[in-house]
Amino acid sequence: MSNKLHTIALFGGTFDPVHFGHLRMALELRQALDVDEMRLLPSHQPRHRQSPGISAEHRRQMLALALEGCDELQLDERELKRPGPTYTVDTLEELRAELGEQVSISFCMGLDSLLTLPSWHRWQRLLQLAHLVVVARPGWKLPQKGSGGGQGEVAELLEKHAGGIADLHVQPGGHLVVREQTLLPISATHIRHLIGSGQSPRYLLPAAVLQYIEDNQLYRTAATSGQ
Ligand code: ATP
Repeated sequence: MSNKLHTIALFGGTFDPVHFGHLRMALELRQALDVDEMRLLPSHQPRHRQSPGISAEHRRQMLALALEGCDELQLDERELKRPGPTYTVDTLEELRAELGEQVSISFCMGLDSLLTLPSWHRWQRLLQLAHLVVVARPGWKLPQKGSGGGQGEVAELLEKHAGGIADLHVQPGGHLVVREQTLLPISATHIRHLIGSGQSPRYLLPAAVLQYIEDNQLYRTAATSGQ
């Protein structure tokens, strides 16, 4: 008898705009973790951090275009629909209530994000609701126990909850899995800068997304490009 759970992984970000770095990472993670669903989860952006003129609806549409015809990745729009600030813990509470206790949920994040975890809203609750999958670039260094600035707390968390991919398939949450993966050298900031300065970002993002950006004249001004 197998006690294998249905497995869902979430890959969050602002996706302003979505690019091949995000898409490759999400797909490779889906394959490496061998999860049943990999959902891209665009975050609601605080108004002061929004690229001017780039609404949540534009970011959503660009993601939908990027994922067209791709059965391996899904779009989860819940954070865009929620008014006000988005806290990961609220999203995970909502998902857990929706899916029940017998589904495995993995929230994926970069090592950089993990290091800021102690400043997240109700961060201690996250591992009660889900697994955390931390993507580290080759050559990464984990925080050491006893270091200051919250790093010691992260080190303790890593030790206490350390797990492997197999745990994601038999437990609904509670493990912290570190996964080494190479990142394509692409960033949304660079893409916005290219467009803002009149250069082409072609081949850094799906052609349909670039077409959408051109049709809607997004990221044209220096202010919009976030520079
Ligand atoms: P910005 O340049 O605006 O900060 P970004 O390109 O870093 O944007 P985000 O939307 O902030 O993209 O990131 C979403 C998620 O994708 C984050 O977890 C981030 O670590 C990850 N990510 C960003 N760029 C890459 C990349 N080139 N390869 C893999 N993952 C990436």
